[in-house]
Amino acid sequence: MSKPVIGITCNTLLAEGTLLPGMIRAFVSTDYIQSVVQAGGIPLLLPSVTDPTIARSQLMAIDGLVMSGGPDIDPSLYGEEPLEKLGVVNPLRDEYELVIVKEAAELKKPVLGICRGIQIINVAYGGTLYQDVSQIPDCTIKHFQSTTQREALWHTVSIEPKSVLTTILGQSAIRVNSYHHQAVKTLAPGFMATAISTDSVIEAIELQNEHFVLGVQWHPEMLAEKSSTMLALFEKLVCEAANNR
Ligand code: MN
Repeated sequence: MSKPVIGITCNTLLAEGTLLPGMIRAFVSTDYIQSVVQAGGIPLLLPSVTDPTIARSQLMAIDGLVMSGGPDIDPSLYGEEPLEKLGVVNPLRDEYELVIVKEAAELKKPVLGICRGIQIINVAYGGTLYQDVSQIPDCTIKHFQSTTQREALWHTVSIEPKSVLTTILGQSAIRVNSYHHQAVKTLAPGFMATAISTDSVIEAIELQNEHFVLGVQWHPEMLAEKSSTMLALFEKLVCEAANNR
C-alpha cells in the first residue's frame, strides 16, 4: 500500500530584499517536510486559499494534516480586542486554517498541530488564547528560548498519564524546545490539556473520544532528525493517517 499523504499548512511572506521585491510567497520550514518523510509519509504543502471549496478539495487529497507554526492569530477570532503585546497577524492564513481545521473535523482526518497549530486548533474548536504569556498569572519561564543552538531543549513539560501523548512519548515528563509567546487560555470544548509546563502553561491538547487531533506548543519538527521521541509524534500522525484511509 502506498504511503499516506500528509498535508502541511504554509506561511505567506512578503519577500523584500530579493531579486523580486514585493512578491508574496507561500513557504514552510523544511524541518516539517523532513520530519514527515522520516516518519514514512508523503509531504504535500497546502498554501492558504480564500475559497473554502478549494480548501475542502485540498483535504480530500490528503490522509493527515500538520498545522505548522507561524504568526499570531487575530484575537477577534476568539472575541478579544488586540492587546499591546500581540504580534503580527496574517488574516488570509487565519481564515484558511479555521476552514481547514473544521473541514478536517468533518472528514475525520488526523491532525497534528505545532506551535501556532495548537493555537489555531483550540480557536477553531471554540477555545481562546493568551495574546502573550505575560498575561498568564503564574508564568515565570521564558517561553521564547534564547540559545545559540537551535536544537537545544529549553524547559520541562509534564505529561498527563491518561493521554495519547503518554503512549506516543512513553514518558511522564520531557524536555522540550520553546519558541512561543502565545498560549492556550480557555481550552476548547471536547479537549483535554495533556502537557503542562512547570509554570502552568498548557503545552499540549488532545481531542477526546474522537479521531486523532493533537496539538503541541513546542517544535518537534526541529528535533525529529535526532530525537526518536520527537519523531514519534510524526510517526503517530502517519500511522493514524494510514489507518483512516
Ligand atoms: Mn513553552
